[in-house]
Amino acid sequence: MENHQSAIGDRVQKLCLVCVEVRGHIVASLSKTGNIVSVKCPQCGTRSRFKKSDSNNGIGAVPEGAPYNWAITYRKGQTMLHPTFGIGEVTAVVDAGKIDVLFSDRVRRLVHTKA
Ligand SMILES: [Zn+2]
Repeated sequence: MENHQSAIGDRVQKLCLVCVEVRGHIVASLSKTGNIVSVKCPQCGTRSRFKKSDSNNGIGAVPEGAPYNWAITYRKGQTMLHPTFGIGEVTAVVDAGKIDVLFSDRVRRLVHTKA
């Protein structure tokens, strides 16, 4: 499952316990194997440990603004880069196969988890 190598300075989505909000965190340190050890919240500056369980999609951390991929299970607060609509943020998980994503003009319903 090592299909994405993270680097210090990358953005990953994580719940900030101080802001009580899922937001892009900055990778602050990595293990020898390239796994994210700690991340920093850009909003409040809190540094916290990053656990595999912080990303529940089974493929590790999804970089902020990564290309939209219908095989990924998205969750609220994640961002994506859609080839047509541009950058969007998941505003709601409608059901196991659908998400609402807010793009610059409006919310669109996309599919996800479609392996
Ligand atoms: Zn925070």
